[in-house]
Amino acid sequence: MRVAVLDGYVDEPSCLGVPPYIAPYPRYIWGMLKHLNIDSCYFTIDSFRKDGRVKDKISKCDILIVIAGAIVPGKYLGGVPLSENELPHVACGRCENILVGPLTLKLRKCDDKFEIIDFPFEERLFERLCEMSGVRSRFDCDKFSVLGADVVRHHPDFPHVICEMETYRGCYWAKCSFCVEKFQNFMMRSPESVIEEFERLYELGVRHFRLGRQTDFLTYMAEFGDEFPKPQPEKMRGFHEAIWRLCPHIKTLHLDNINPKTIATHPDESRAVLKTIVRYQTAGNVAVFGMETADERVVKANNLAAMPDEVLFAIEIVNELGRKRGFNGMPRLLPGLNFVTGLKGETKETYELNYEFLKMLLERDLLVRRINIRQVSILPGTAMAEFGYKNVKKHKKYFKAFKRKVREEIDREMLKRILPLGTVLRDLRCELTVGKVTFARQLASYPILTGIIGEYERNRFLNAKVIAYGMRSITAIEHPLDINRAKLYQIDAIPGIGMRTAAEIAAKRPFRHVDDLKEAVGEDVFSKLRDFVCVSTGEVCDGTRR
Ligand code: SF4
Repeated sequence: MRVAVLDGYVDEPSCLGVPPYIAPYPRYIWGMLKHLNIDSCYFTIDSFRKDGRVKDKISKCDILIVIAGAIVPGKYLGGVPLSENELPHVACGRCENILVGPLTLKLRKCDDKFEIIDFPFEERLFERLCEMSGVRSRFDCDKFSVLGADVVRHHPDFPHVICEMETYRGCYWAKCSFCVEKFQNFMMRSPESVIEEFERLYELGVRHFRLGRQTDFLTYMAEFGDEFPKPQPEKMRGFHEAIWRLCPHIKTLHLDNINPKTIATHPDESRAVLKTIVRYQTAGNVAVFGMETADERVVKANNLAAMPDEVLFAIEIVNELGRKRGFNGMPRLLPGLNFVTGLKGETKETYELNYEFLKMLLERDLLVRRINIRQVSILPGTAMAEFGYKNVKKHKKYFKAFKRKVREEIDREMLKRILPLGTVLRDLRCELTVGKVTFARQLASYPILTGIIGEYERNRFLNAKVIAYGMRSITAIEHPLDINRAKLYQIDAIPGIGMRTAAEIAAKRPFRHVDDLKEAVGEDVFSKLRDFVCVSTGEVCDGTRR
């Protein structure tokens, strides 16, 4: 028996698997297949679309397992998730087709080409594989996580992947009207098993990790008897120390979700754990708070966890502890905010309150790394399913206006404060070149999209200096820019230079050292170049290309 695993990517409230991320699911499934001694192959949906040979390879298998479910709307640079409409096109005519993942929660119609395994699927899929292979065995997800780690080497982005690491599943609150976390079977992984998985992935060459597969990282290893579990500072410190002891050259260690209600309920313990996060995780980290709304009436009507004043309190604490800049140019830890619109009880005033809340953050100089605004996705089985899309349709114009206003008046200003002009961002990975701009990002949780002036090959890593701002992105110049090799349009992009001066500088190349440059361009021009360029003695740009 041979099995093909097709990774259609997932994006859920507490799990991301769109490249460069790789979710735990394909790793666990790979581990199950290895455990059962089943011959397997792994592909991503993007390689399926681009390369006809992938389809041929799948057609030689007996079973196709498709993982899918980008149920949180998003825009992605690294890959395009498999949609429900595309599903029939990936089914294999001669395989048994199995669909798993959060997409199964929102399928509008059942595709008869697929056997659907309900979410959460791991245990059920394992039983099905045992049945198909005729092997009897015990389900052990921790074991599968280690055994299946080597699937990362089949990922097209390897070694530039970020492994989404699972610490626990489910939510102790699980009451929010729109959320699907209540469908998860609660499961807390032991720190030993998470660390063992870290160690194995590290051994395979992975250097980027995100502790993203939990609803509230602060409460990992906490007792879940109370309504709001108390963070465990000592255990969390030990957990981080163990990771670094075994994986000393990690480049990215980030987290995803934190519930602001935990900070508001247990400020001392939360503060202690946040200090550990700031100390042991890498810079550019974002603690995303599911605020959803700044309207107290909507918080109550939808059983949301935290009131706006509690979210504000959590933002203040994270700013106090995390806003200092780290080695890669980014503040060490900042909060992120998620807003959801279309909820029960929402009115026009809700949008005004949301905007006022964000404006107040700017006035108080509190930084927020990312403001995510989305219309509620209504999923069967949630309280919102009865209420439906009434407010989404009715308030569409308010949603659009609110989003535009935040992008124009809040986001850009936040970016300016987070990354002032001249800040150098390090280790940007070039991903896509469009015209004379290459889009690059740090391998990080919610990295800032950076348009670097110039054409750079994919997967090149470089440093760049901020020169301008978009609404949610920045423009930068490679740092330092080699004045002898730079293209004319790159020199032109240096603030205060302009095309005429750039052409004059280019005509005087090559420069053998900085003094040469200074003498050739004069004090005034040199003062503008000084902080941006270096002088090499290698190959020299001919100065004519624009
Ligand atoms: S706090 Fe609410 S939105 Fe967040 S995971 Fe729990 S139920 Fe879902």
